[in-house]
Amino acid sequence: MKGKPQVSITLLSGGTGTPKLLLGVRELLDDNLLTIIGNTGDDDTFFGLLVSPDIDSLIYLFSNQLDLEKFWGVEDETYNTLQQLGMMKEPTWFQLGDKDLALHLARNRLLSSGYTLTEAINESCTKLEITAKIVPMTDDPVKTTMVNEKNERLSFQEYTVKFREKIPVKAVHYEGSEKAKATKEAIRAIKNANAIILGPSNPITSVGPMLALPEIKNALIKSKAKVIAVSPLDSGKAFSGPAARLLKELGYEATSLGIAKLYKEFLDVFVISTNDSELRESIQDLGIKAICSNISLKTKTEQINLARAILTEIGINL
Ligand code: GDP
Repeated sequence: MKGKPQVSITLLSGGTGTPKLLLGVRELLDDNLLTIIGNTGDDDTFFGLLVSPDIDSLIYLFSNQLDLEKFWGVEDETYNTLQQLGMMKEPTWFQLGDKDLALHLARNRLLSSGYTLTEAINESCTKLEITAKIVPMTDDPVKTTMVNEKNERLSFQEYTVKFREKIPVKAVHYEGSEKAKATKEAIRAIKNANAIILGPSNPITSVGPMLALPEIKNALIKSKAKVIAVSPLDSGKAFSGPAARLLKELGYEATSLGIAKLYKEFLDVFVISTNDSELRESIQDLGIKAICSNISLKTKTEQINLARAILTEIGINL
C-alpha cells in the first residue's frame, strides 16, 4: 500500500497473544516488511502428520483465514474427519479440523519428499500468497514437555489440550534445545531487523523454547536493533491461558516485573499495563525502559493503537 514506511521488523511469536498484535501491525505496515519467527516447541505428530500450532496460526493469519474467535485454526471449520475417526475408536482429543488437515497433508507431502520444515513452510506461504516471512525457530526437533506431580513428562499438547492446563506443573523442559540449531533464516531476521518485537506470548511455553536456543538468545543479546516486548500479564493475571500460573509454579514472579527479569539480557523496552504502573521503576532499574499503556488487544482499535505505539517507540514514522 502506498505511503506505508519501508523497514524490516522481526517478531517472535507463539500461541494466541502475538497474532492479536500482528492484526494491528498489519494495518500499519505491509506484510512483506515483517519476518515472524515461530515457536516450534509445541509441534507434535497426529496420525503421522506434523502439526505446528504456532506456525500454523501465523499461516492462517497472513492468508486471512484465521479463526478470530479462538485465534487458532481456520475460520468456519468443520470436524467431519475427526468425527469419523471417533467412530473408528481412534483418539480424537486433538482438534484437527477438516480444513486444517489440508495444510498438514500438503506439509507432509513436502517433508516426505525431503523438504526441511523451513522450506515446507515457505512453500505453503508462497502457495497461499503470503508475503510476510514466516520462519521456524529451528528445523530440528525441540519438544516442550511439562513435568506433572508424579514426575511424568507430558507433551505440551497433552498438557494444553488433553488436560486443559488443569494440572500443576513442577518443571518445564525444552527437550532437544541444547543440540538444536536455530534456522539461519531466524538468525538473519534478528541480525537484519530494524527492530525486534516480542509479542505478548506465554514466556514459559511460547517464548521460552525460542530463548532456549542459544543462537537465538545470543543473537537477541548482540542485536543493535531495539528489542521491544509487550507483557501478556495485567495486574499479575494473564489475559488467557496459564502464563501466570506457570510462572508461579516454576518459582518466578507472576508479574510484568517477573517477565522483565526473564528478558532483561536483551530487552530495551517493555510495554506494560497502566494498571501495573507501580512496577515501572523496578523494571527501569533492570535497564529496561517501561512504557505504561492499555495492553488489551481485544478490539481492532486496541490492536492498532498498541501496534502504533510500539512502532512509534521504535522510531517508525507512520
Ligand atoms: P498460552 O498461555 O498457552 O495461551 O500461550 P500463548 O503464547 O498462546 O499465550 C497467549 C498469551 O497472550 C497469554 O499469556 C495471554 O495473557 C496473552 N494475551 C492474550 N490476549 C491478550 C491481550 O489482549 N493483550 C495482551 N497484552 N496479552 C494477551
